[in-house]
Amino acid sequence: MKYDIMNKLQQIMEQNLIDIEQAKDRGQSAIGFYCLYSPMELAVAADAIPLPLCGTSNEPIATAEEILPRNLCPLIKSSFGFAVKDTCPFFRFSDIIIGDTTCDGKKKMFELLSRYKPTHVLQLPQSQDTAMALSLWRSELERFKKIVETQTGVAINNDRLRAAIRLMNLERGARKALMDMNKAKPAPLSGSQLLEILFKVGFLADKEKGISLMEEVVAEAKNGSFLSEDVVAGSRKRILLTGVPVGLGSDKVVKIVEQSGADVVAFENCSGYKQAFFVDEKTNPLDALAEQYLATPCSVMSPNNGRFDLLKEMIQEFSVDGVIDLTWQACHTYNVEAFRIEEFVQKTFGMPILHLETDYAESDTEQLRVRIEAYLEML
Ligand code: SF4
Ligand code: SF4
Repeated sequence: MKYDIMNKLQQIMEQNLIDIEQAKDRGQSAIGFYCLYSPMELAVAADAIPLPLCGTSNEPIATAEEILPRNLCPLIKSSFGFAVKDTCPFFRFSDIIIGDTTCDGKKKMFELLSRYKPTHVLQLPQSQDTAMALSLWRSELERFKKIVETQTGVAINNDRLRAAIRLMNLERGARKALMDMNKAKPAPLSGSQLLEILFKVGFLADKEKGISLMEEVVAEAKNGSFLSEDVVAGSRKRILLTGVPVGLGSDKVVKIVEQSGADVVAFENCSGYKQAFFVDEKTNPLDALAEQYLATPCSVMSPNNGRFDLLKEMIQEFSVDGVIDLTWQACHTYNVEAFRIEEFVQKTFGMPILHLETDYAESDTEQLRVRIEAYLEML
């Protein structure tokens, strides 16, 4: 019998909503996160449920535009629109929201978001390689810890934090193993399948359930029972997607690449490999969290050298034929960084790169298709 992961995942997701509701009835807190820089370990250490809230749907954007400017990143508008419309169950479940001062649009959006939910914004440094930046971030995490303790009534000691780091490292390991399967030729999972699994697993209140599900998928794929139906050995170009985060509803570029006869085999973004860095389990846990999370290679950092190192490693290890750099409209940091990314990929690998700027709407789908097909022809 065919291994039907998507059906199983759907059932787990439905049960997850019930589980969270019941946990909240029993007095457990839920904490909403908007960015990869804030360590979910602090929520896990206090027995709270961490929920990733970045909006990936076009649907709430019109509502958001009644308050926010139209020429703002769709991720910010989508996130805010969900809050205004109260249509995201995970936002509704969240007792408190944690944001970071990443890009200008997001940090100003949090000021308005605080009208809908208690919101705490961490002051994220804009660079990674100075002692001052690390010490500021460490002190912000101390402040964050106290907020979580007040919210949950649980004192977070080092043992609790270490246990949370261990659990989250297991989750990172399972995510990485899942993504690394696509180093094989042909890739066992299509980009859409991989994205859907990674995206949905992030919402599971029971992290161990998510870990064993990802391990199960890896085991099934190793048995050969889970090859993407579209895959024809060796005939499809292998694409790496870099740039802004993508998720269900904001995955049109992934779909167009697949419809055009290629595979997105790797995601170098928040939805993918940026979530695969391990936190040191041996040193002081808050120091280790501050150091590893601050090192996240996102374009809001200046300079953002870690992204170049990660890209180089991934282009080689996933044996990709091409790179697509995706920017959401009005995302200045990724948009400006695109020039250096193109220069780097061309100089290092002699590979052409396609930079796309779009939003969550479907109106430019055919234009994107023409550009993507032309790019694939060049490879
Ligand atoms: S792209 Fe950067 S700012 Fe946006 S969620 Fe990811 S880490 Fe945060
Ligand atoms: S994609 Fe860019 S503009 Fe949008 S939230 Fe992330 S960093 Fe900010």
